[in-house]
Amino acid sequence: MHSIFGRSDKSIRMNLIKMLVICFMIVAVLQTVYLTGGTKKAFVQLMFIPIILSSLFWGAYAGLAVGIIGGIFAGTIPLDVSQDIMQDPINWISRSIIFSIIGFTTGYLFDKINRLNAEKQERNLKSPFYNLPNAQQLFYDLENRIKAGEHFRLVSIKLTNLYEIEKYIDNKLTFDIVENLAKKLEHSCGRKAVYSYEKDELIVLICDFCLNEYEEKLKRILDNYVSSPIKMNGYKFRVSIKVGIYLYKGEETTPIEIYNKARIAYEQGEPNKSGVYYYDRNFEKKRRENQDITGALLESIIKNEMYVVYQPKIDIVNNKISGVEALVRWKRNGTDYIEPNIFITIAEEIGFINKISEFVFKSVTKQIMEWKSKGIKVKCSVNVSVYDLLDEYYTYWVNGIFSDEDIDRSDFEIEITERVIAYNDKKLLDKMYYFKEKGFLISIDDFGTGYNSLMSIGEIPFDKLKIDKYFISRLNRIEVAELVKSIIQYAHTFGKIVVAEGVENEEQIKILKSFNCDEVQGYYFSKPLMPEEFEEFYSKFNKLS
Ligand code: C2E
Ligand code: MG
Ligand code: MG
Repeated sequence: MHSIFGRSDKSIRMNLIKMLVICFMIVAVLQTVYLTGGTKKAFVQLMFIPIILSSLFWGAYAGLAVGIIGGIFAGTIPLDVSQDIMQDPINWISRSIIFSIIGFTTGYLFDKINRLNAEKQERNLKSPFYNLPNAQQLFYDLENRIKAGEHFRLVSIKLTNLYEIEKYIDNKLTFDIVENLAKKLEHSCGRKAVYSYEKDELIVLICDFCLNEYEEKLKRILDNYVSSPIKMNGYKFRVSIKVGIYLYKGEETTPIEIYNKARIAYEQGEPNKSGVYYYDRNFEKKRRENQDITGALLESIIKNEMYVVYQPKIDIVNNKISGVEALVRWKRNGTDYIEPNIFITIAEEIGFINKISEFVFKSVTKQIMEWKSKGIKVKCSVNVSVYDLLDEYYTYWVNGIFSDEDIDRSDFEIEITERVIAYNDKKLLDKMYYFKEKGFLISIDDFGTGYNSLMSIGEIPFDKLKIDKYFISRLNRIEVAELVKSIIQYAHTFGKIVVAEGVENEEQIKILKSFNCDEVQGYYFSKPLMPEEFEEFYSKFNKLS
């Protein structure tokens, strides 16, 4: 509640109490001086206490005023009470001057210290990048709103491609973009509603009663920013913005919890694609599960939770086993089976994939040697991540394995998912050529799921093409069958071998045979098997054929 003076009633009450205390002190000092025999004793110096206190409470002029008042009142007390000798006027006048000088100077010093502190505090609450309040101010304001029981919306606005703009266009431009956006937001949502959290992140705090109006305005501004390229400082470029919105309804008790929810909200959707996202409890749950997986993943190899299974590939022209594909498996804590598609993606993101690849490669080389000693001679393919190929260490230790062990490189196939192959990525293609020259066979995995056209595939070095199971499971549709047929024909004109993935029934085998497909892999022949199971499969299959 505010009074007509613009100050809160609470602060007026406090000032009145302080005034009463000062008055009481002045009276108490005068009384003490009188009772102890007069101003000839040193007790009159006690007057400095109310003088300094009032300069502390209200500043230089209050110190001056109380100094004068205290000096005049002290002048009315006799020099010696018992003999009733009054003070010489020069005595009390000079004392009053000293009191007021001390009152004014200490008040001035207190004012200065307060001003410096306020400036420092203001600086601490300002963003180092922009002329905006920072995260500390945001948390302070959030805390006040939580205490006041208000509901509000917290909007986190992340500019996701500032780094690229800085790298490829201009460093200063990135500051101008954010400042420009902040001004527009301030214009629509209020001067103190926009905060700078990081260099590339703004936060808008929308209060409860203006929710819908402001939220619409905000969405319009962001839409104008991302829908078409913007022109600034003579450049024309695109900005991508991800927005996370959290509606606070009193559940959380700390600002950081609320902020985290707005931030988690914008993590939805593709990383660099603009979009507005509302906080979703399920998304957070999934995110937490992934965090759990990530933590456990880092320990999975040391804890011996990973192992490799082998899925046979069948040459349907000559009816024989043409090889196996090594597929990694992870049983977390020995019981929970985690899908490779989940943990491989996480491992790639956190840079753990190289450890998994190293583990798989070592397991496979050991297995091939063991099978060789048992008279089982099969080619084995391993899935290789693009991060492996671009990692010099990977190349180094793969070469090391083959110089140590008695294994032929052509017993090995490297499978690279088509999705990750960009035919214009020179570094990646050079690496593929390198491995091919070293004698490895190269397969393009999951063909049809990536962006390569049949034209560009001609520029990629490979020996085998694995048609993705998505197409094989739809072979009964005429247009898919025609597509598969032409892929096979096209690959054959270049002398490449074609493998069909995910073959599950006889009908598919028949169609693939009629298209002259070379090999198949899928549950129809076998699921991925443990080494001993594969040995059984191997001997049974060879007896039958
Ligand atoms: P991928 O390389 O395309 O492997 C084939 C996937 O299809 C395997 O899934 C296999 O179990 C499954 N599959 C085989 N036959 C059939 C079938 O008839 N029907 C159906 N519905 N599925 C079939 P999995 O083992 O879950 O692996 C998924 C993906 O994870 C693999 O796809 C591969 O991209 C990746 N992956 C697996 N192991 C490794 C590894 O050691 N390193 C790397 N970098 N990636 C791996
Ligand atoms: Mg594969
Ligand atoms: Mg595949």
